[in-house]
Amino acid sequence: MAEKPGDLFKTAEGAAKDFGLTYNGKSINEGQEYGSRIYIVVKDNVTYFTYTEPNTGGNAGVNPSTEPTGSTAVADVHSHGKYEAEYDNDNFSTADKEDNDNTWLTGYLTTPDGSLKHYDPETKTQTTISKDLPSDPKDPETKKTIPPNQAPPTNTPTPVPAPVIPTPPKPKDDKTTT
Ligand SMILES: [Zn+2]
Repeated sequence: MAEKPGDLFKTAEGAAKDFGLTYNGKSINEGQEYGSRIYIVVKDNVTYFTYTEPNTGGNAGVNPSTEPTGSTAVADVHSHGKYEAEYDNDNFSTADKEDNDNTWLTGYLTTPDGSLKHYDPETKTQTTISKDLPSDPKDPETKKTIPPNQAPPTNTPTPVPAPVIPTPPKPKDDKTTT
């Protein structure tokens, strides 16, 4: 379940997922991007991961908040706001990937279709980790609508979305979105 920045997770991916549970719906509702870094916390000789209180960007960009002085970041995570036909918000932009190539941090992305995605700057590949974050019902890629203003249900049935006719988004001007 959604926790909050500063909570401890066993993996960087767990922290990224929690970021998505906590902020992806808010990001969709506001049409605004959020971004954090995921960093290491050692407690009682055990290594954990947490994420910073996010920065907000605008509709098409955010500079993730940075880790506390003296700690080590391993990844960053950001959201892409709501579905916008003119942007390919369900994928890392070219600028996103270049940024991770420069920082050498693993990239995590939460998207309007409710996905958590991963970008590895070493192999330069992106993968989809999960598809059960809060999502934008307007996104044609949304497979299972989890209302952005509602925490993901665990055992309660999810409303079936009305059928949508997929219309592929136009190619994104990657330079305008990070
Ligand atoms: Zn981005």
